[in-house]
Amino acid sequence: MLEDRRFSRPRNKLVEHLREKGIKDERVLLAIGKIPRHLLIDSGLHHKAYEDTALPIGMGQTISQPYTVARQTELLEFGKGDRILEIGTGSGYQCMVLCEMGADVYSVERHNELYHRAKKALSEFGYRAMLKAGDGTLGWSTYAPYDGIVVTAGAPVVPQDLIKQLNVGGKLVIPVGDEKKQVMLRIVRVSETEYHQEELDNFKFVPLIGEKGWK
Ligand code: SAM
Repeated sequence: MLEDRRFSRPRNKLVEHLREKGIKDERVLLAIGKIPRHLLIDSGLHHKAYEDTALPIGMGQTISQPYTVARQTELLEFGKGDRILEIGTGSGYQCMVLCEMGADVYSVERHNELYHRAKKALSEFGYRAMLKAGDGTLGWSTYAPYDGIVVTAGAPVVPQDLIKQLNVGGKLVIPVGDEKKQVMLRIVRVSETEYHQEELDNFKFVPLIGEKGWK
């Protein structure tokens, strides 16, 4: 992987900050401590790369705040080799965290340009994931069922296609609300027909735009 020693120290500080903020899964912290987030953003923003903040990546989109990435990943509670679907590839950062933790990763992005950029970055950093340009509100039925699905944009409602593409025991982590604020939901598929839903913390995401999202 490409590395620049100037960024090791701020990256380690970010990991400590996330730990203090309540992230407990050491595998998540280890992954965040390895991934060169600065290489996924414009060089003019490199000085902010390891601040706990969302940053612009073009097309009006953002690379999520590291705490948000860590929290969503932790909530998936997946094991090595589990099949995880991400909706909203964006910069590819969350995708890399999932890969680094040993998941079998699938990710959908609606902006063609971001899809191509993320694909290139993943390959340059040596990560293997299946990426697709398209509407993630419909999931990705070809590779379903998934052990976990993480949606990295704010949805007006829970898209039913995503629920249907979960394995029994699988978890969907999705922010749902209006355009200003969303509550993080974790929905566990308990059996073929039953689901258990938890309402967690509030967040602010860019909108999930698509057939089963915002129009
Ligand atoms: N996971 C990303 C990362 O680590 O950089 C976060 C990206 S950003 C917060 C959310 C992304 O969701 C944006 O890139 C946006 O284009 C994408 N998005 C919005 N609606 C979508 C949809 N229906 N299908 C796929 N991607 C979508």
